[in-house]
Amino acid sequence: MKKRVMIIGWDCAAPELVFDAFKDDMPNTQRLMQEGIYGHLESTIPPITVPAWMCMMTSRDPGELGIYGFRNRNDYSYDALTIANSHAIKVPPLWELLGQEQKRSVVLGVPLTYPTKPFPGWMVTSFLTPIDPNSPITENNLQWTFPPRLAREIAQVAPEYMIDIPDFRTDKRAELEKQLFKMTRERFKFARYLLEKKSWDFFVMVEMGSDRLHHAFWRYWDKTHPKYEPNSPYTNTMRNYYRMLDEELGEMLTCVDENTTVMIVSDHGAKRMVGGICINEWLMKNGYLTLKTEPQGITRWTTDMVNWQQTKAWGEGGYYGRIFLNIAGRESDGIVRAEDYEKVRNELKKQLEGITDESGQSINTRVFKPQEIYRECNNIPPDLIVYFGDLYWRSVGSVGYNSIYTYENDTGPDDCNHAEMGIFIIKDGRQIDGQVPPKSIYDIAPTALREFGIDIPDVMLGKPI
Ligand SMILES: [Zn+2]
Repeated sequence: MKKRVMIIGWDCAAPELVFDAFKDDMPNTQRLMQEGIYGHLESTIPPITVPAWMCMMTSRDPGELGIYGFRNRNDYSYDALTIANSHAIKVPPLWELLGQEQKRSVVLGVPLTYPTKPFPGWMVTSFLTPIDPNSPITENNLQWTFPPRLAREIAQVAPEYMIDIPDFRTDKRAELEKQLFKMTRERFKFARYLLEKKSWDFFVMVEMGSDRLHHAFWRYWDKTHPKYEPNSPYTNTMRNYYRMLDEELGEMLTCVDENTTVMIVSDHGAKRMVGGICINEWLMKNGYLTLKTEPQGITRWTTDMVNWQQTKAWGEGGYYGRIFLNIAGRESDGIVRAEDYEKVRNELKKQLEGITDESGQSINTRVFKPQEIYRECNNIPPDLIVYFGDLYWRSVGSVGYNSIYTYENDTGPDDCNHAEMGIFIIKDGRQIDGQVPPKSIYDIAPTALREFGIDIPDVMLGKPI
């Protein structure tokens, strides 16, 4: 019987939920844990969907991919941040490596696969597919499935298939809850169709609903969340959603035989969000950044507000912070001399690490230099990557707060931040050790290759689990 590998990705699935809080609601998952091995899976730096899934699928770090987050600098102009797509991926992901060995793959919803490129298999691209959410998904957009006619099968099998929830940062939680369950059910319906109808060797899918769930419903579950709401109609939303993930897993398992290695993985975890550090307010307060005029109230960050002749650094918001230095000869109006680059960067790093909360307690901010954490730095990395308050705090780019602290998110309601530890569960029929020490996101691709007996390329960062 032929060897197959099935990877089911639950975006953002957190170890404390799957292995602990919701364990008893997830009998199929628990059975896999008992019959295989499981543990924490350390994410990329930063622990963000883009680039994390693609790093997992290539076993290369963000620097090697040259993708440092959702938005990346195209060049050294001030406003050239663009969203990456599959054209940015210059190294082969698992399905291409396997294709060279005559293995056929199903790839469903893996971020950074749009637009599709021909390969031996079937692909549906991810939530980053630029399709107008108000118009039904049609075959007219020929690049969101491969082969293009696969779109027709989606329309027949899962007519309500959603690439993503159009508006997941909303206060309309009841509607969001309904859509979340529907989206996930439809995706798994189509996933099972692919499992049964296509002659695949390697199957990988990513469900984004779990990420949307955490960001919208974490406060109703986590009693330590500063905005915890007891007795809410959403108290059990998180638990019910995980229950559904487990049910769907159970159905998927009935589609594969004992010769199939099954892996459940997540790209990062989640943790309650305590607040936001207004990164540009902080840079202003500390003399690194000057605006042309005082903002009137809270204002979305744009680089045309900046007086560049008096600015050494600026920052971007998100689950982690990115800081860019304004370097003479690099940026058009740069004022930091190239020879002072390291000095200014070190000074900034030290000051950022010293940020306290409003009561003066250290929040344990961690700051990374890309050149120190990646094997190489392709394209344009940020000058510093910042985890405010050990990722209990997010980075807020907007200005006009008159404070470096905020407790409302500038991009819509959001309850949680990303955590460094995701999950893995592997059932390969050989390893039955239960919980094992943490592994790395880079270990997943080598593990899949080993299952097929294929040599692991030396350039891969990870080792087979
Ligand atoms: Zn994610």
